[in-house]
Amino acid sequence: MDPARGLLSLSEQDLGIVRAEKRLDEIPEKRAILELRKRIREFEAVRAKAEAYVNEARHAVKRDEDEAAGLDAKIESEQAKILSGSITNPKELQNLTRELDALKRRKDKLDNTTISVMEKVETGEGQVARIDEAIGLAHSKEEQLIAAFQEKGGTLQREIASMKAKRDALSAALPAELVARYEQQRTTKHGIGVGMLQGDTCSACRVQLPSERTQALEAGPDIGVCPNCKRLLIVRTGEAHE
Ligand SMILES: [Zn+2]
Repeated sequence: MDPARGLLSLSEQDLGIVRAEKRLDEIPEKRAILELRKRIREFEAVRAKAEAYVNEARHAVKRDEDEAAGLDAKIESEQAKILSGSITNPKELQNLTRELDALKRRKDKLDNTTISVMEKVETGEGQVARIDEAIGLAHSKEEQLIAAFQEKGGTLQREIASMKAKRDALSAALPAELVARYEQQRTTKHGIGVGMLQGDTCSACRVQLPSERTQALEAGPDIGVCPNCKRLLIVRTGEAHE
């Protein structure tokens, strides 16, 4: 293959790939999918917090219940002592009654706390359920968007794959040193690694070259270097040469 023609074809494929990828990027569903995924991640973060809150509240309820059971047992045994009639000393009986009242007050207070913590658990569980519902809705919306994106973008993706295959074949057929110079220019110069000398103008940077420069290029090899932008510059292709 004539390197100048091959390089030109390679550059055409690469520009075609960039344009097609840009069109793929601009499909509105793509942006919508990315935004939706961000929202799902936010939902999941909120869900994790809500769940941690619920778990903590559940543990608090468990602790309260254990404490209540202990208090109940104590109250029962104190009551049994009083009712047994075994305590005859009025002072001792009075102390015991006072202690029993204190235990009952503690138990009432604990019951109230437990109820409010149970309400917290319920509120938190409701919140988790609502977040789950929102996440579910977002996932089904995401599926719809992906289907629409694949329908619109499928053709473009196939085109891109075919251009990539062509460019890889072209690149493999060209001298490695030339491809390396082309890639280096393409990376540093806005994706365009090669220009064509059109009259006295470089097609890549659109700069009109001084006539002595143009003459020097024309007297040189098929592939030169643009004196202005330093990209590879195709002076002529093999076909035009023949
Ligand atoms: Zn140039």
